[in-house]
Order: sequence, then C-alpha cells, then structure tokens
Amino acid sequence: MCEFVPFPRSCTRRGNPDLGRDAKRRGAFLGGTPSLAAKKGYDKFFNSWIPEPAGINAMWTKAIIHLDMDAFYPAVEVLDDPALRGRPVIVGGTSHRGVVASASYEARTFGVRSAMPIAEARRRCPEGVYLAPRMQRYSEISRQVFAIFERFTPLVEPLSIDEAFLDVTACVRLFGSPPEIAAQIKSCVREELNLTVSAGVASNKSVAKIASDLQKPDGLTVVEPGREREFLAPLPIERLWGAGPVTCRSLHLLGVQTIGDLVGLPVDLLIAKLGFQGEALHRLAQGIDEREVETAQEAKSIGNEETFTEDIRDTDTARRELLALAVKVAARLRHENARGRTICLKVKYADFRQITRSITINEPVDDSGVIYRECCGLIDKTDIGRVPVRLLGVSVSNLYSPEAPHQQSLFDEQGSERKTKRLNQAIDRIQDAFGNGAIKPATLLKKP
Ligand SMILES: [Mg+2]
Repeated sequence: MCEFVPFPRSCTRRGNPDLGRDAKRRGAFLGGTPSLAAKKGYDKFFNSWIPEPAGINAMWTKAIIHLDMDAFYPAVEVLDDPALRGRPVIVGGTSHRGVVASASYEARTFGVRSAMPIAEARRRCPEGVYLAPRMQRYSEISRQVFAIFERFTPLVEPLSIDEAFLDVTACVRLFGSPPEIAAQIKSCVREELNLTVSAGVASNKSVAKIASDLQKPDGLTVVEPGREREFLAPLPIERLWGAGPVTCRSLHLLGVQTIGDLVGLPVDLLIAKLGFQGEALHRLAQGIDEREVETAQEAKSIGNEETFTEDIRDTDTARRELLALAVKVAARLRHENARGRTICLKVKYADFRQITRSITINEPVDDSGVIYRECCGLIDKTDIGRVPVRLLGVSVSNLYSPEAPHQQSLFDEQGSERKTKRLNQAIDRIQDAFGNGAIKPATLLKKP
C-alpha cells in the first residue's frame, strides 16, 4: 500500500550520470523492492503535473521542507504490535460517542476519516481494530522523529506531534540539494524508526505544506522555485493552506473551485468579501508566502510591553498598566484573526531581574477583559507591589486561527491526557486564588 515516490529528477545532475545512478539507487532503496518500484515511481513522477524539471539550475534561494508522518498514531500502534500490519487500525475515542483521531490507510479505504464519529467508523469498517490513543507513547516516538529532523537543521518548526517545517536553505553544502535532504530524512525515519513520512519541498511554507499532502503516504513532492503558481493552479481551493471550510464556502459562491480560479479574481473583490484575509489568500494562491520557519522557542505570540519612566511601586498602578497592555494585545489578536490560550505576564524589576509568569486557559481568547483578569491573577506570582518594577509586558501565545479545528476536541471522550491538563489548570487556578498569597509572606520572612 505504501506508494513509492522516487528521488525527483530535479536533484539529478545533467551530464553527471553517476549522480543520476546514485539517485536511482537511493530511490530503489527507499522503495524496498528495487527496479520495479523504482520504475513505477519514476513513471509516476514524470507523468505528474510538474512539466519540465529545471534540474541543477533550480535556484533555491529559500528551501523549506514540510514533513508529515503518515497516519502517525496507527503507524505507532503497528510498530508496537506488528500483528496489526495490513489491518484497518483506527485510533480514537472508544466510547460510542468518541471520534476518530487517526485511521490507517487500510481503514481509509473503508471511508474512515479523522474526526468522524466512532459509531460511523464502526458501521463502515466493522472488522477494524479500534484502539484508544496512547499519547505518551506517540510523544516518545515524536521526540525521536524530531531528533532526526534536527540533525539536518536547527530551524525546525513543529506544527503538531507529527508534522514540522524545516528551513534547509543553509544546509545545502552540507547535505545536498533540498530534494536530496528530504530524501535523506525520509530514509533515516524509515531505517531508524521503521515509519514513513511524507515530504513536500518548496521555496516557501505554504507550498511545501500543500506539496507534502499530495502523494501520501511515503510521498516526496518537489515544487521547484518559480513553479509555485503553475503547481497550485489546478488544485481544488480546499487544498490552500489557510482556507477553512467557511472561507471555502464563501469562495465557492464567488465561483472559485481551484486555486487558479482564486488568482483570477480581483483582489479588491476578495477584500470586500473576506476582509484582510482575502488579500492574504490571494497572495498564497499565487504561491507567495514570506513567513519564516519559527522554531519552538520563538513560537508565535502576540504581545506588548512598556518601560516606565518612573518605577511602579504599587499594585493598583501595575493593574492599570496591565489593562492598557491587555487592550492593545487583544486588538492586535483580533486584527491578526487569532486567539490564544496562553497568557503571559513579563516583569522586569528595578534591579533588571526579569521574570515571566503564564497561565493556559481552556478556551482561546482575543478579549481584553479575559486577558486582563488572567494577568491580574498572575500578579500574585510576582513581586509586584513589593519590588519596584521598570517594565511590564503582556503576551498571548498558543495561537489558533478561529477556522482551525481544535486538536483537543478529538479527545473529548477518551481523555486522560485532557483530564490531566484540566487538572493542572484547575490547580493553577486554585493556587492563584488561595495558595500563593499564603506562601509568599513566609518566603518574605526568610528574606527580609
Ligand atoms: Mg500526519
């Protein structure tokens, strides 16, 4: 069932038959059964939508690889219990009200899909193997997968437990062309972990992400620089990263079926119908995306901070400043069409000591009232009011765009993970309400 997509021609050097052979050897190796798989794969590649590969002349001024593990949860289950190989494996909530978190490719042939109610999945695939998620085990394997990614570049942006962007622009001298790097990563994951990952290689994030999904499982799809627009044009608009179901419905009403149709619309019309998102989608549809790969440490957050001309010495003044910051941050969130679950308070004291305190709430917010309230709750975890403060900052991270479905809703039924998370949040809240006030004075007694 694992479809084999070979080493693409773009990374074989014309006039250097050795490298071409090497690529074929590696392609054959990746495919498992040498010549036949390689041949089949090559035919498939040459008949695909990318007309004439630019070969060595492809100029990768920016090279992004999107990697996405194939049916990750079921694949890990098969790994731990090889007897499951080849069987339809469905991981999800096991009660009758649960939903499918992930289905193996065998299960997908029965029409089982992620986020489908388990009851529906059982109807379509009664012989399926239904398993409850084991998130801890998946995280463990995920760490090993990411460790492989990080061997090739430090610029790894995790999108989820089994998906990441890699910026390999600066790694070409070390590891070869971007498609070669993708092929190497794929073979490392296969050899070391016995799992398959699909890769999309392109000059930007959005195109790489769309590409990785096109030839799943075990795919390697390369979109050479300058070919983004022709690659995207024939694809259905639903493939455009950032166009959620609501947006797609609006676009269908405008007669848009393919990404190319969207490019054909006047941008003014899109702005009138979809607001600022219309303009962004129009650019993405043309294969233009300037977003950088952001590592986990610099994961996106929206925040504001203020350095005061005079240190703040009392809590009331600090609260007033926090309200002003919360209003600014909330406005920016709404402007970016984002909501976040983690609210972070940053404090720099007069002695330049800097701390951050944060809280993660259940529902993503873009409302200044909630952000302000949570920040006030965090004041108790700081020395505000006891130590002069020269800077305050408020930021919101763990961002969602309202159209992106919540990952966590998949586990409404099963949920020891979620229960733990909620328990932690509850503990945080109780500490906010009762704990720290009682603890802090004792600490202060020790350090008068
Ligand atoms: Mg995946």
